Formats: sequence, C-alpha cells, structure tokens
Amino acid sequence: MLTNADVIELTEFRHHLHRHPEVSGQEEWTAAQVVQALEPLRPHRIVTGLGGHGVAALWEGAEAGPTVMFRSELDALPIEERTQAAHRSTLAGKGHLCGHDGHTTILTGLARLIARRPPVRGRVVLLFQPAEEDGSGAAAVLADPRFAALRPDWAFALHNMPGLPLGHAVIAPGPANCASEGLRIVFRGRTAHASMPETGVSPATALAALMPAARAAGNGGAVEPGFRLVSICHARMGEPAFGITPGEGELWLTLRTLLDADMAALRDEVMGLARQLAAQHGLEVAFTHHDRFAACTNEAEASRAIRRSLDALGIGHDGQGLPMRASEDFGLFGSVARSAMFLLGAGETRPALHNPDYDFPDDLIAQGVAIFDRILRDLLD
Ligand SMILES: [Zn+2]
Ligand SMILES: [Zn+2]
Repeated sequence: MLTNADVIELTEFRHHLHRHPEVSGQEEWTAAQVVQALEPLRPHRIVTGLGGHGVAALWEGAEAGPTVMFRSELDALPIEERTQAAHRSTLAGKGHLCGHDGHTTILTGLARLIARRPPVRGRVVLLFQPAEEDGSGAAAVLADPRFAALRPDWAFALHNMPGLPLGHAVIAPGPANCASEGLRIVFRGRTAHASMPETGVSPATALAALMPAARAAGNGGAVEPGFRLVSICHARMGEPAFGITPGEGELWLTLRTLLDADMAALRDEVMGLARQLAAQHGLEVAFTHHDRFAACTNEAEASRAIRRSLDALGIGHDGQGLPMRASEDFGLFGSVARSAMFLLGAGETRPALHNPDYDFPDDLIAQGVAIFDRILRDLLD
C-alpha cells in the first residue's frame, strides 16, 4: 500500500505535470519528468523515446511467468484550461483536460509499490504512452522495434470518467469503445467575380448537399453491432469577401462504428457521396484521413482480472454505459495481449473530459494504484 507520504508526493507530482501540459507528439518534458520519477526506483530497464516520447519501465521476477503491462497516456490537449486551481496550466492554449496527468501519476505510484516488492514471477511493464489524443500513439509504440522485447501477455489501463460517482468502476467484457476516424473532404473548382458566378465553378451546392447526405449515412442508433455515426465537425468555403464566389471548400467529418469491420464500408459510402456530388458539379475532390482509432474490446479473462481486483478491494462496479461512442487507442494492444480497460468515476458533478473546467480528482490516485497493484499480485505472485 501507498503511505501517506507517497500520496502527498504523488499529488504534488500530478500538479507538477498539470502545470506543463504537452500535446500529442510533443511530450518531451513530461517524459523526462516520468524518467526522473522512475530512476530512483531502479527498474531493471527503462526504455525512452518509444513510439515518439513514450517511456517504458520493466521489472523482472525471479521465476519465469507472463508479462503484465499497465499503460497510461502522457499527452494533454490543445485546449485552454479555465479552472482556478493553484496548479492550473501555465501554457496558453494547452491543458491536461483528459486527466492523463492523473493516469501517469497512478503508474508512477504503482512503480513505487513494485520497487518495494518486485513480482515473484514474470515481468511487469509500465508503459507511459505518447499521443493518445490523436490516436497515433499506441500504433507507434507497437510499431517501435524495441517494443518486441517488452511484448505483454496481459495489458491493462484505466480512464477516469466524470458523471460517474467518485471511485465507482465500470468494466464489462466485450466491445468498450467505438472505432472512429476523421475524414477531410476538399472540393476544388474555380473562383469567379461575384457579378459573374456562372463563369466559376463553386463548391457551394455540393458542400450543402453533402452535409445532410453524409449524416444520413450513419444510423445514430444504439451502440451495438451495426452502429454507424457521421458527425459534421467543421466546414469552410472560399474567403470572407463579397467580391468573389468560392473556388474551393472543405468539410471535416468524424466517422464512428462499433466494429472495425464496418468502418471501411462507412468510409467508402461517404467518399462515394462526395465523388458523386463532385462529378455532378464539375469539381475535383480530394480526401485526407486523420485521427484513426481502432475499436477497443475488453478480453474476457483480462476483464475478469480487473473485476477480481475491484471485488477484493470492495470497490463497486457495473457495466453501465458500455460500449461507449467515444474512442480510445488502447484497443490496439488487444492485438498482442489479453487486454481490458476500466473506467473509474471522477464524480457526478465534475465537468466532462476535454471541458475547459475539467481537472483530474486527486482522490483517484491512491485508488487507481491499489486496483492495478491488486491485478498485478493476482497474476504474478
Ligand atoms: Zn481525451
Ligand atoms: Zn483520455
């Protein structure tokens, strides 16, 4: 168990990270703070620069056994924080508004317990993953050749969740998060003087028609197999000037499906609609793809391991609200390990994740460490 001194130091560490948020792919300072916290704990190995600015710490037990990985995220968001906390962000336009500072602190707390009592058998990997918010980090870590030596048999993660009672857990086997991706559609025609619009090729009509048509490609129903959602996120056309008609315009959409297998069909359908409208209106069309997240599924045995830990600690849990529409790149670790992720309530009145008023509840630090530690002892002692 953590001592009171641990909890005080870990809370300070969380506030330290919180003051200096770094967005996806730029977590250099945060990674350095993590390494500084890990080094005195003498893991058998620390790997840095993993899939970008990722850090992994490895402890080995005396006997052979499975490798158990716990994962947190290093990145913050390009959103201005608007809390009055003494530890609020000192960097304009950036904030730890998803609680990744808290998740990272939980893993450094777990590192303290592992250092004091290394696993009897097998290996423990603590992965501080970069770039979760743009969906690129888990894939980059998996693609890093140095990850092969850390390859886990089991992988666990948690995410705090405002709206749920503080400390209440949500976990269920099966689908947990939807697949999602950003699709940017650019129409190109030709500008014209506003007095002679017929001499140009404007994307206006195609863009206007594409919005309801793309949205109708989703079904917006219950989050169950077959679920498809198309959200219109951004649109832009021409210049803010009355003298010309536009020669280009673009639309940004987010596509969501519960199953990875359904994503390609939804993407093809929306791109087909755009191509059809472009042809009708004499426009060129180009596509770019962004923020791709695979679906996240909780493996049955890994989910059971989490539930055993929660039960042993007397922490209430259920499977309410799963699967979620939101995405999470942790699911990719399911391709190499038995993996599962649980939600930990951040309080019913806490502002939502990514909200400018959000801040991670420090009360979850000790609880998160205890849950992970229990899972670890269950599998490796
Ligand atoms: Zn987030
Ligand atoms: Zn997050």
